[in-house]
Amino acid sequence: MSDRKAQPPAQGASASMMACAHRAPRCSHIKDDGRRCQSPALKGKRLCYFHGRIHYPRPRRTVLPPLEDANSVQAVLLSVQRALLQGSVDHATARLLLYALDIASNNLKNVTFDPLAQDPHHPRG
Ligand SMILES: [Zn+2]
Repeated sequence: MSDRKAQPPAQGASASMMACAHRAPRCSHIKDDGRRCQSPALKGKRLCYFHGRIHYPRPRRTVLPPLEDANSVQAVLLSVQRALLQGSVDHATARLLLYALDIASNNLKNVTFDPLAQDPHHPRG
């Protein structure tokens, strides 16, 4: 039986890293109760990760699915409605999106995204 016991992590390096973390600039966000956030600010920033995301949310990239059937048109219609209600899309952009959805909806009967259906040698073509 060995008398070696599990060694704690090297405290010198760990303590040094903790001391460095404690010296890091703090988030400048002031909470509703008047106290300053104590989280470390992101490198080169005034705010911590959390408050940075709250004050400066990244704009979401909207990716529209291919409008290949009535269900996908309906799903995008719902997304546009949500965006309007949330105020994340202006009325002019929403109007254009709804117009595009109207065109897509009218085109559904004329288009196919099935490559086999377009092949004249295929039974479905
Ligand atoms: Zn903060």
